[in-house]
Amino acid sequence: AAKDGGRATYHFFTPELNRRASDRMWTENNLRRALANNELELFFQPQFAVGGRRLVGAEALVRWRQPDGTLIMPGQFIPVAEDTGLILPLGDWVLGEACRRAAELLRHQDLLIAVNLSAVQMRRPGLADRVAGWLSAYNVPAEALELEVTESVLMDDSELVAETFAQLREMGVQLAIDDFGTGYSSLSYLKRFRVDKLKIDRSFVNELKPNDPDSGAIAEAIISMARSLSMQTLAEGVETEEQFSCLANLGCEQIQGYLLGRPMPYDDFVSFLKAQTGEPQSPRDEAQPLS
Ligand code: C2E
Ligand code: MG
Ligand code: MG
Ligand code: MG
Repeated sequence: AAKDGGRATYHFFTPELNRRASDRMWTENNLRRALANNELELFFQPQFAVGGRRLVGAEALVRWRQPDGTLIMPGQFIPVAEDTGLILPLGDWVLGEACRRAAELLRHQDLLIAVNLSAVQMRRPGLADRVAGWLSAYNVPAEALELEVTESVLMDDSELVAETFAQLREMGVQLAIDDFGTGYSSLSYLKRFRVDKLKIDRSFVNELKPNDPDSGAIAEAIISMARSLSMQTLAEGVETEEQFSCLANLGCEQIQGYLLGRPMPYDDFVSFLKAQTGEPQSPRDEAQPLS
């Protein structure tokens, strides 16, 4: 039977699958080294309040910078990290690095720093303690940190996940559901977990058309549901002014997307932030005191 299974697999092993399998193996073999050698880096994508287009936060998005400078995107290595368990050390590094950067950013402006958590991390005992440890290590108030999880996490009926949610809430950490609308969550899950924010998936933003009220039906439903549960809404993947104004009309509170800012390296984000607030770009730009 094992032989038959092997033959069946072989039968569908096209060149495309072959390439993907070897990419995967390469990623698996090199990711551990990348972590040890500090090749991971956080980019930051700005988030804005719809009213006034005010910068209110940033999402930290991990990148893998190869020794030759090439960037590898998370879609290529996060799934592999999840399958191999490497997501635990990787996710812990992300949390620590996000808190370190948050401490620096908060010196410039009040911001909410959002960090993605894998379901694997949520299902592991001790997450709330790790988060508390990083916050206190860098002296970051819990209220400045937002943790994003996907709907699949809400469907986990283990006591552990519910308890972790409760501990994080108790600490004052903000909780958001990422890619909302693409999973299977229901009102009852949302009521049970009581998160602070729903991030409307970019597929629903993408289909918005100015003169077609039906195109906004899902975004509208999510926004009204969030409102009735006292949750905030943020729309992801906003690329055009038309999408922005549709979302504003529907009452969406926050916006993230290429229209207003791409994910960028930390130093670029600091310059972006200073440009927003009118803070001088660097010490050279500042008027030097007369001596
Ligand atoms: P996500 O959390 O939903 O992040 C949003 C993704 O959409 C990012 O892709 C971002 O670059 C992209 N994006 C933002 N604005 C726009 C837009 O206007 N148009 C389009 N087409 N795309 C936009 P990225 O950085 O490649 O990340 C992909 C996914 O990888 C993330 O989706 C998240 O699920 C995961 N990820 C990223 N960083 C981490 C991390 O530190 N930990 C974990 N567990 N997952 C992460
Ligand atoms: Mg996210
Ligand atoms: Mg998302
Ligand atoms: Mg996503």
